[in-house]
Amino acid sequence: MARPNTIKIGILHSVSGPMALNETSLRDVILMEVDRVNAEGGLLGKKIEALAPDPQSDWMSYRDLAHSLIHDDGVAALFGCWTSVSRKSVLPVIEEADILLFYPMQYEGEEQSRNVFYMGAPPNQQAIPAVEYLMSPEGGAFSRFFLIGTDFVYPHTTNAVLKSFLDAKGLRAATFPEIYLPFDHTDWTLTLESLRNFRAGGRGAVLSTLNGISKQSFYRAVRQAGFSPSDLPIMDFSISEAELQVLDPADVAGHFGCWGYFMSHPAPANAAFIETWHRYTKDPTRPVYDPMEGALLGFRMWCKAVTEAGTVETRTVRQFMYGQSIPTLTGGNTIMAVNHHVDMTLFVGRARSDRQFDIVWQAPRRVFGDPWAATQMIADATATTAQRDLLDALPTPLIVLGLDGTIRYRSVSTHEYFGAVIAPEQVSALLDVADHIPFQQFRSTESTLPEIALNDTTGRRRHLTVSARRMSFAGEDAYLLSFGDVTHVREVEAQLCLLNTELHRLATTDPLTGVTNRREFLSLVQSELRRMRRNRLPGALFMLDLDHFKRLNDQYGHDIGDQALVEAARRVRQVLRSHDIFARLGGEEFACFLPETPLESALQTAERVRHSIAELRLTVGLQSIGFTCSIGVTRVDPDGDSPEAALKRADEALYVAKASGRDRVIEASPPVATAGP
Ligand code: GH3
Ligand code: MG
Ligand code: MG
Repeated sequence: MARPNTIKIGILHSVSGPMALNETSLRDVILMEVDRVNAEGGLLGKKIEALAPDPQSDWMSYRDLAHSLIHDDGVAALFGCWTSVSRKSVLPVIEEADILLFYPMQYEGEEQSRNVFYMGAPPNQQAIPAVEYLMSPEGGAFSRFFLIGTDFVYPHTTNAVLKSFLDAKGLRAATFPEIYLPFDHTDWTLTLESLRNFRAGGRGAVLSTLNGISKQSFYRAVRQAGFSPSDLPIMDFSISEAELQVLDPADVAGHFGCWGYFMSHPAPANAAFIETWHRYTKDPTRPVYDPMEGALLGFRMWCKAVTEAGTVETRTVRQFMYGQSIPTLTGGNTIMAVNHHVDMTLFVGRARSDRQFDIVWQAPRRVFGDPWAATQMIADATATTAQRDLLDALPTPLIVLGLDGTIRYRSVSTHEYFGAVIAPEQVSALLDVADHIPFQQFRSTESTLPEIALNDTTGRRRHLTVSARRMSFAGEDAYLLSFGDVTHVREVEAQLCLLNTELHRLATTDPLTGVTNRREFLSLVQSELRRMRRNRLPGALFMLDLDHFKRLNDQYGHDIGDQALVEAARRVRQVLRSHDIFARLGGEEFACFLPETPLESALQTAERVRHSIAELRLTVGLQSIGFTCSIGVTRVDPDGDSPEAALKRADEALYVAKASGRDRVIEASPPVATAGP
């Protein structure tokens, strides 16, 4: 029976057998703390008496010893266990007796007993952040992983969680190698072969959940095979300073571990604790490692809860545990949540050759322990897979774009359009489109969807309308972009456009000479007059008729006549300025409008035109022939004049030119009755 002046506690850690390497220090750190509390006056005024029988690394013994500690010795609480199987075997005993167990170790989650306070990390506090580190730019931006573990519960569960996580991150985790081996495995021939193949497929990292003796020989084999940590880093989920004591530093240096505690952490509280520990153990080489901090914090939290509760009775102490906050060794406080798990900061450490770690990374935020994160993650991954299958089943190209512009998924049918890789400029164009689409628009039938154009895998120019919808994909907000192929419509439109241009050309030009026709001339002059009216500047117009053209036709044939028309038109164009409007009115009659040109300059231009035509020579057989033209010129007043009236005056002047002997320029009489004084 318990002496009235002591409070008994039970410690369940093996100090013999294979687990002794890991667990002895956990027992010792609690014994050290018990000494300290007793030296400071005990708990609730009583001395703590720690009973620490050795389970000898046999999980059945953990259960039996828990039973006798509770029922024979009357302990108030238990501290201990390392492997999940030992914890699972103790569980029914403590639940039946309603005794609390403080469990110090990182584990696979999926458990939440009201009789256990979990001081270590479930996967969401260790494995996931560790892989996030490897995927980050500073961690090497890895996207391929080789999963290797010992064949027992923790590695299988952890890897299932990791694969769901990687899958949800858009990586095809099902294609990653995954190997499980016995605790005592030492022949690495086949594994090295797989590692070589893995490495040949591109950069990648190893995620190791190896335990037992196989761990040591694995690191050795990997090094001897010529892999270096920079080439093929190993992230090990169970390598602490305790393992570094027994592994060859040359084999492990450069590889990674990750924990909520590293002995090399520079916090003052850590330095003070290490000093106390070495003084207590009288061994300055004994390492401190993460689960020791778990054991220490568990015991300290219990002491605080008991002090506040004023009793060691489980039901009361449990209530005082919730929200209990105590300082960690690396700075800051950790808080016990109502789900019996604590929050923590995760560190990634790189093994050094002096059996310590360099802390190379610290998670950006404290993470709350969630033993069910894995279940949720698997459910999310399953949902994500279902979403993908659905997207793939649809013939419409579909792309899931993260709000930040990362491609979260693309359906099979997008390959035809975008090829194997969507170019960054296309992605940013898509994001641009998605960002600017008002979502309600898609319910309307109006086709005002934005469009993108791209060259498909066969090089054909494709036009796609893009519609966007917000959706949740793999638990995150995203855009679902669906594409409509309007290539055919756009091609027909382009042809129509060409056709219209051609039709316009045909309707406005003279087919023989290629210059403007009469109708177009009248309309161009009309609008030019309108423009000139604003500036009130006069213009001029002349009409030109080839002399004795009928004779030329009769003498040399119609073809020569045509040639003469073409050459004459070309000559005139050369003399004119680009903004002068020149047209064939019909037959061998041409007209020219000179905007904003005084009559004197127009007469000079007409004279140059006449001269240029007179110089023209056509070759007919051995003969060289020429011809002349007559021109009538008139001033055009922007106010009150019309193209038709101006043409009429020029024609009258032209008639005078013909009548007075041809091959000359005649000025028309000034326009009658214009506006003005
Ligand atoms: P005038 O000096 O008085 O202008 O005499 P003309 O012979 O040039 O005048 P007329 O109006 O009598 O004859 C014009 C001729 O132009 C008649 C027609 O055969 C010819 N002609 C009209 N259009 C074309 C054409 O597109 N090609 C050819 N080769 N000849 C044309
Ligand atoms: Mg003529
Ligand atoms: Mg004529």
